[in-house]
Amino acid sequence: MTNNTRNALTTEKIKAIIRDVPDFPKKGIIFKDITPLLADNSAFTETVKSMAEIYKGRGITKVLGIEARGFILAAPIALELGAGMVPVRKKGKLPYKTVSATYALEYGEDTLQMHEDAVKKGEKVLIVDDVLATGGTAGAVVALVEKLGAKVDGIAVLIELEFLNGRGKLSGRDVFSLIKY
Ligand code: AMP
Repeated sequence: MTNNTRNALTTEKIKAIIRDVPDFPKKGIIFKDITPLLADNSAFTETVKSMAEIYKGRGITKVLGIEARGFILAAPIALELGAGMVPVRKKGKLPYKTVSATYALEYGEDTLQMHEDAVKKGEKVLIVDDVLATGGTAGAVVALVEKLGAKVDGIAVLIELEFLNGRGKLSGRDVFSLIKY
């Protein structure tokens, strides 16, 4: 079996195990529930390995996970890459000194934070989340990383909702998604 055939089989298997939950958390949203995937050892392993594989040998020293489901993927990807893991959290959750970035939501705005010493100037980082939707969240994390003088080497998501054009907000960035809808 070629690498491409194996990859196609892997992504089909992963896609099949992600559960669509209509009208959660509100009417009109189809929530991509990754808990069945996390509960399946082989699907979870293949997900982490497939996402990490792309970034091997690129000198990434930190993997940033976005609260909360991003944490679950970022931690094992960091271990695969021999990098450290950094949590990016909603405002007010981190105990030490933070930097913040605010981004627009459909109604209102939200703020994400990371510790000011979590990444160093010039460090290469990978940003990880479960879903890329409008791109607002990932865009805010890019701003945080760059405020600290580090370099975003890539943005990796398990699922990309292409119809929301999150990539549009991340133009010029290296964005990878394992599964697209
Ligand atoms: P956005 O900022 O619009 O790209 O939204 C991305 C964030 O919202 C991610 O942290 C996702 O976990 C979450 N998210 C957005 N849409 C969905 C969805 N349909 N299913 C699950 N999570 C979602």
